[in-house]
Amino acid sequence: MILEIKNLSKTYGDKQAVNQALKGVSFSLKKGEILGIVGESGSGKTTLLKLVSGLEKPDAGEILLDGKPLSAKRTKDDYRRMQMIFQDAVASFHPRRTIADSIRETTNSLLGRAEKPDLNELSERVGLSIELMERRPGNLSGGQCQRFAIARALSVHPEILLCDEITSALDVSNQAQILRLLSGICRDTGTSALFVSHDLAVVSNLCDRILVMKDGVIVEEGDARQIIHEPKEAYTQKLIESVMEVKDVRERVQKYWTIRTKDFNAIRLNELHDEISDRWSAELNARIPCGKALDVLDAGTGTGYFAVLLGREGHRVTGIDLTASMLEEARKTAELFKVDAGFLQMDVQETDFAEESFDVIVTRNVTWTLPDPGKAYNEWYRLLRPGGILLNFDANYADNVRNHNQKESWVKPKDVYGHIGITKELSEENAGITLAMPASRHHRPQWDGILAKEAGFSEWGADEEVGKRVLREHDLSDAPLFLFWARK
Ligand code: ADP
Ligand code: MG
Repeated sequence: MILEIKNLSKTYGDKQAVNQALKGVSFSLKKGEILGIVGESGSGKTTLLKLVSGLEKPDAGEILLDGKPLSAKRTKDDYRRMQMIFQDAVASFHPRRTIADSIRETTNSLLGRAEKPDLNELSERVGLSIELMERRPGNLSGGQCQRFAIARALSVHPEILLCDEITSALDVSNQAQILRLLSGICRDTGTSALFVSHDLAVVSNLCDRILVMKDGVIVEEGDARQIIHEPKEAYTQKLIESVMEVKDVRERVQKYWTIRTKDFNAIRLNELHDEISDRWSAELNARIPCGKALDVLDAGTGTGYFAVLLGREGHRVTGIDLTASMLEEARKTAELFKVDAGFLQMDVQETDFAEESFDVIVTRNVTWTLPDPGKAYNEWYRLLRPGGILLNFDANYADNVRNHNQKESWVKPKDVYGHIGITKELSEENAGITLAMPASRHHRPQWDGILAKEAGFSEWGADEEVGKRVLREHDLSDAPLFLFWARK
């Protein structure tokens, strides 16, 4: 254990207004681990980090660094060993000094004047050019400042990074990059981190182990998977649900899949190493002209499963998805399987492609989650070349959930597979399908035929045996999976 926290307490205020911000918190951090700490605003997360870093003193409790208790009076070296990184990166730098000067000041005070920071290496480490270090914080973006704040922390060779909401002020794609950067640093250098955030989506995506804080105590602790899928505390469940309360549908879908990325990626990586991927390849190849390299669009690629299968066959694949963290994993997986595929963040219902067109569009488990599947069919038609084919593998999840009251829903919330707990989200996310299907008095995949016809496709058909062939012994062999294909 690099860090052990024992019974840490802190009270603010005087006798009139006592505010017990921390009430006996204990946990430990392994070397190289990124431990997530999540909880709503005011739960005591920042207080905890301030006590650990030495910015404030605890009323009671003990902090052991590498097995040795830290004394109340911290030495310079104690400060060096644990570096705090804050939410407001711009404000964490002196406004009138260049970034380079600020970093030199940090190393001067904590390492001594004899040791000069290697600014080249530091900027490279955080993926920015060294020229940017000559700027003042006001002339950099929030994301750039946060990268340099990480660089400044690294300049004194810390053992632990104390990260307080470091992605909260950034947009989604900057968030994903910072998370990737941080996990790379911890993996490569063996640095440990306490990663504090109010956002469970962010924490569960980055960390293997999570502590949940409420009112100054740790109410739940466990691995990220368990916390997300089997929360023991109602409070944790509330945090998970609050993630889904974001109003904008697109943002909500992104949040949902950001939370699910790690878990989903593990499933798909397993499948890539399993013979089930040969069966999927066979299904794809049976419908795609073989013998020549085609331009393929994998719409809603997720972590890149179909993109990798088709890239392996020699096709030129572009994968698009709404969720940045999914695309990050897709890029890694493509690299792992030495497949040359491109990945772009786009909405499958409304892509940014202007000139591009494709011979084949594949999509899997996407249509049922779309607010407007008709729009997607129109867009896929637009992007296909004449004679091109759409292969839409989907399932009747929505249909089953819609009929929840009449018949047994196929989706069992506790089922550990692709769509845990979707019942609730489904009814919120796929309003398009749940409303449109009964109105049309058709079920899928017949309903897809109507949409395809409206979009202009000349020929289409369905194959409802695909699930039985592909999934076989897998625990979802009873999934209502089908292939809907359409030709332009
Ligand atoms: P979080 O980071 O989880 O939002 P904080 O650690 O900032 O929570 O706050 C925990 C509690 O301590 C809150 O009730 C907050 O108002 C209180 N608190 C934090 N800092 C101070 C302070 N300097 N003076 C008084 N109360 C404080
Ligand atoms: Mg805070």
